[in-house]
Amino acid sequence: MNYSWGHDRRYNSYPEYFKKHFGERVQKISVDAGFTCPNRDGTLAFGGCTYCNNDAFNPSYCRPDKSVTQQIQEGIEFHAKRYRRANKFLVYFQAYSNTYAPLESLKKLYSEALAYPGIIGLVIGTRPDCIDHEKLGYFQELSQKHYIIIEYGIESCFNSTLEAINRQHTFEQSAEAIKQSAEAGIKTGAHIIFGLPGETKEQMLSEAEILSTLPITNIKFHQLQIVKGTPIEKDFGKNPEKFTLFELDEYLDFIVKFVERLNPGFIIERFTGEMPPRFLTGQNWGLIRNDQVNRLIEKKLEDLNAWQGRKYFPVYD
Ligand code: SF4
Repeated sequence: MNYSWGHDRRYNSYPEYFKKHFGERVQKISVDAGFTCPNRDGTLAFGGCTYCNNDAFNPSYCRPDKSVTQQIQEGIEFHAKRYRRANKFLVYFQAYSNTYAPLESLKKLYSEALAYPGIIGLVIGTRPDCIDHEKLGYFQELSQKHYIIIEYGIESCFNSTLEAINRQHTFEQSAEAIKQSAEAGIKTGAHIIFGLPGETKEQMLSEAEILSTLPITNIKFHQLQIVKGTPIEKDFGKNPEKFTLFELDEYLDFIVKFVERLNPGFIIERFTGEMPPRFLTGQNWGLIRNDQVNRLIEKKLEDLNAWQGRKYFPVYD
């Protein structure tokens, strides 16, 4: 059976989407362009979000003292040695807030990336308060010729949670940034964390309905992991009862329920985050990889005869 997303996998999966649209595998290449973020440089705060640890997810070739071109070149070589070859690439500006600079600097940086052979587009991770009409106008222009997606860190739909993790922006700001980007014809990504302090499972599940009303293109989920040395480690030590550190089985049950309530138009890019256990404190899932968890989720969807959007009922105003 083919679902509304055009294939028989039980969720609207990211690799299938790319195969369908580009006819082949597309590899993401991470680049660290040396940005900071207003939650770290003192504009909003100095401490950053309590869980933030950008070093934990930066590949080794990715260093801001190298040019964008050099990082792309080394990134392509790095991936070619380890994974199946790809001929098309997206440059992923992931570390910190990648729209937090004057427009002219962004133009210089992003045109350098797009000029590299084989680069078909950009994935730009940022905060919802680091975008404005001028920047959206620029990305709108780029979107005419390239695959451009702005990935917003929403993290939670609840302002009390955003306050508890020191995000220094509200959910309403996230919703507005996503709407304005979509209105400008730019693809939008959303990043959500499950297990943040003060949220019950029921509240987390209700986020499926809230998010489903937004014009999101791609969505990524992450179970909360407590990275050693981050402020959240201390918060967790003081009040562990406020957190939900999911056991793997518990997460599989949860995510299947969540996906059933989720807008079937959203492309699911990832269900989980993975990090070597040596970086983590509190219970974790050991060395299991994301693709293994994906298979368990697909198996669970199959066993329950469930699929993305089975319990999604759009609300029309
Ligand atoms: S907005 Fe991003 S980069 Fe800035 S502190 Fe939060 S998680 Fe870290």
